[in-house]
Amino acid sequence: MHYRTVLHRFAGIIAVCLMSLTGCAASESSSTEQSESSTAAHDIDLFAMDTYMNLRAYGDKADEALKAASEKIQSLEHTLSVTEKNSDIWKINNSGGEGAEVSEDTITLIKAAKEYGAATDGALDITVYPVLKEWGFTTGEYRIPSEARIEELLKKVDYTQIDVSGTSVGIPDEVQIDLGALAKGYTGDKVMEELSSRGVESAIISLGGNVQALGTKPDGSPWSVAVVDPYTPGTDMCIVKVSGKAVITSGNYERYFTGEDGKDYWHIIDPADGYPADNGIVSATIISDSGLMCDALSTALFALGTEKAEEYWRAHGGFEMILVTDDKRILYTEGISDTFSNISAMPAEVITGD
Ligand code: ADP
Ligand code: MG
Repeated sequence: MHYRTVLHRFAGIIAVCLMSLTGCAASESSSTEQSESSTAAHDIDLFAMDTYMNLRAYGDKADEALKAASEKIQSLEHTLSVTEKNSDIWKINNSGGEGAEVSEDTITLIKAAKEYGAATDGALDITVYPVLKEWGFTTGEYRIPSEARIEELLKKVDYTQIDVSGTSVGIPDEVQIDLGALAKGYTGDKVMEELSSRGVESAIISLGGNVQALGTKPDGSPWSVAVVDPYTPGTDMCIVKVSGKAVITSGNYERYFTGEDGKDYWHIIDPADGYPADNGIVSATIISDSGLMCDALSTALFALGTEKAEEYWRAHGGFEMILVTDDKRILYTEGISDTFSNISAMPAEVITGD
């Protein structure tokens, strides 16, 4: 069985995937359940952060730990939502230029967003929100904005304007932020913390396609995680084996619309020009110990494009990646060459460190 990096846009498909995944696990674990109750699979399905989530943990401590983890997800959802009145992000966006007092989680995320913003030359910029709204990605009322309007909005896009001081966050009046690019990855890290602090050693979660594993499978073998083919999002493209890592994908198929001009426009914006990022990548998957890093970089490296993503990996390391190019090639970093299996018709090439 594989854990798929699925997509929240096709909510129906996900629900089916997760159910079949659950069904699969139930039959897989039933034999072990009789002999050894500590390896039984326990599941929670929930809808939060605008996406379907499945949490699976093994062992005697699983039920209680899963309950605590799902409560943490719900509390983070209320804290980090951009639309919910009185969430931390809402307070920051509606503070009229004053500093807003926010939680530690929000501070951690905003500091990380600023750091990844700086490291990626602004490819990750959480102040791109007004541009995203203009394209209709926040409401589903899609439209292609005029160039003049994009120009005007871009003047206010600048993550360096975010001022963090202690537990207070300040932004200029016209600037707005949204943590959509990082929130789910950070949430995955927090779920791992909740589970492991309650004695769980083996777990795997899917937060709308963001997969994160705690430890290995109960039998000690690594988890198989399948990455979706961006050209046929209902099918898998490759499989990687991981232990204790997050596998997070940003793709152009996740949320998009076809404009009157016949072109597709998707939800990852290149802050350099205010248009959907179109720099050679149609899907970017990042694999590392940190869900936050994976989520931030999946969005940022998607926006940076093939060459700059490779440069970033060579310069910084600390993660592995699988890119799919707009000319239908898979590129994957050498650190996963032993555990990567291509199951698509696309050619797969290794990115080396030199
Ligand atoms: P998803 O949330 O669909 O899994 P991502 O992690 O790639 O995918 O995040 C995409 C979200 O990030 C968008 O919906 C938007 O809220 C936000 N976003 C889009 N472009 C950028 C960008 N260049 N920098 C920061 N945030 C972005
Ligand atoms: Mg992301």
